[in-house]
Amino acid sequence: MSTAPINTAHEVSSLLAQLGVDRGAYEGGTLTVRSPIDGAVIGQLKETTPAEATAAIGRAHDAFLAWREVPAPRRGELVRLFGEELRAHKEPLGRLVTLEAGKIVQEGLGEVQEMIDICDYAVGLSRQLYGLTIATERPGHVMRETWHPLGVVGIISAFNFPVAVWSWNAALAFVCGDACVWKPSEKTPLTALATQALFEKAAAKFGGVPAGLSALLIGERPIGEALVDDVRVPLVSATGSTRMGREVGPRLAKRFARALLELGGNNGMIVAPSADLDLAVRAILFAAVGTAGQRCTSLRRLFVHDSVYDALVGRLKRAYGSVPIGSPLEAGTLVGPLIDGAAFDMMQKSLGAAREAGGQVQGGERVLAERFPEAFYVRPALVEMPAQAEVVCHETFAPILYVLRYQDLAEAIRLHNAVPQGLSSSIFTTDLREAETFLSAAGSDCGIVNVNIGPSGAEIGGAFGGEKETGGGRESGSDSWRAYMRRATNTVNYSRALPLAQGIKFEV
Ligand code: NAD
Repeated sequence: MSTAPINTAHEVSSLLAQLGVDRGAYEGGTLTVRSPIDGAVIGQLKETTPAEATAAIGRAHDAFLAWREVPAPRRGELVRLFGEELRAHKEPLGRLVTLEAGKIVQEGLGEVQEMIDICDYAVGLSRQLYGLTIATERPGHVMRETWHPLGVVGIISAFNFPVAVWSWNAALAFVCGDACVWKPSEKTPLTALATQALFEKAAAKFGGVPAGLSALLIGERPIGEALVDDVRVPLVSATGSTRMGREVGPRLAKRFARALLELGGNNGMIVAPSADLDLAVRAILFAAVGTAGQRCTSLRRLFVHDSVYDALVGRLKRAYGSVPIGSPLEAGTLVGPLIDGAAFDMMQKSLGAAREAGGQVQGGERVLAERFPEAFYVRPALVEMPAQAEVVCHETFAPILYVLRYQDLAEAIRLHNAVPQGLSSSIFTTDLREAETFLSAAGSDCGIVNVNIGPSGAEIGGAFGGEKETGGGRESGSDSWRAYMRRATNTVNYSRALPLAQGIKFEV
């Protein structure tokens, strides 16, 4: 593996130039952004003031009033052009994701590919925003439902998918006839600036996009709160921790706005006696140590049947001991850095609690501190637990995999479901009965339930999201688009009589 010196700040400014972002947007401001790769400052952004946020939301609302009258397939053309910009700039944007969020280059490029995929999906969807015709009890009547654009969609995103999360929402919202105002994570606003610049290029090619259809609010929590509290925003899609969702959800409920919450996960996998262990080991590694354990769908709890425990855990221990950790820019690296020192401290705190609860910890220590004194690289931790202690029931956003032994599938499923989160889950088995039990109503209680693949790495075609403290929202594929539109039920009388529903007589 090469360990050539890196000048992250220099590389970031050259990528931003390629992506069409002016220097003024990320120099001289008060919001400091550091690369998790080496801790170097890579941007000083000007923060959006409350007055500027109010004005941007007002412009977005005006843009919505015009955009909702543009036919949906034509709106799809804007998203198609944006997808073309993403294709043309996949390399620099993917690399910028790596520099700002710390995920390996393959995953940075994968994130941009996911944006391209959702654009393609949304373009097709722009000709399929259909409602139902419904049987009516009254002669000479028809009943149907129509779907109309909703308004300004507020999007709050987390650091770990700094651009894909916005696109899951925005690509659908734009074809649905909405405007979008985006508050990216304060840890990753540079990729947001680049995405907005690419959107503006697409809008210029389209011609006639109402000004302010897509806007960015740069800053920390308070500017997100301004978006959440603005009555001109009928839907806020918020991705982040459960703590954030607990604050945002009630504020939206107070003004009867819609909330689409995509919050923390605590994802489990069951490895049954008949499992293909070769597949299981590969799936566990990708899901538990990939993105340095910083995916909402990262594998955090592993339930292994007694009969395969020693074989599987032995292999995992060897793999954990040799997984390549390093700069995510370097070929061969599989585990990059944690986002910052606070994430490292949280990881150490959880490992301490796991030890106190009887856990046997392998790994978890800081590495590469001499080469990167200002950054936080860790060896992923494998923790054999005697029971599902309290610490296992929390999401620690770091590469910690708790391993538990089980004898009976029903008990494994009970433990699997006995946490507050409900995002993603999987079982490795070649036994049809076990697989179908896990998928059944009495099986996993998560929004995503897989067989013989890990819990992370979803495709955009399915609805993405989870239950319980994960927030209940669904984004991306299937019928998720409905969240971005309002439904009207229409009854039309084409007869010469006026029969009332339920046979009610009301004659004068
Ligand atoms: P975070 O909750 O700290 O921040 C997320 C975003 O919310 C940021 O933009 C932040 O500024 C904003 N925010 C925080 N408090 C707010 C408030 N009171 N009002 C308005 N905005 C507020 O999360 P993070 O550390 O950036 O991301 C990691 C978390 O996100 C993990 O819990 C992870 O599981 C979760 N996540 C979930 C999904 C999903 O789809 N379920 C996807 C990615 C990440």
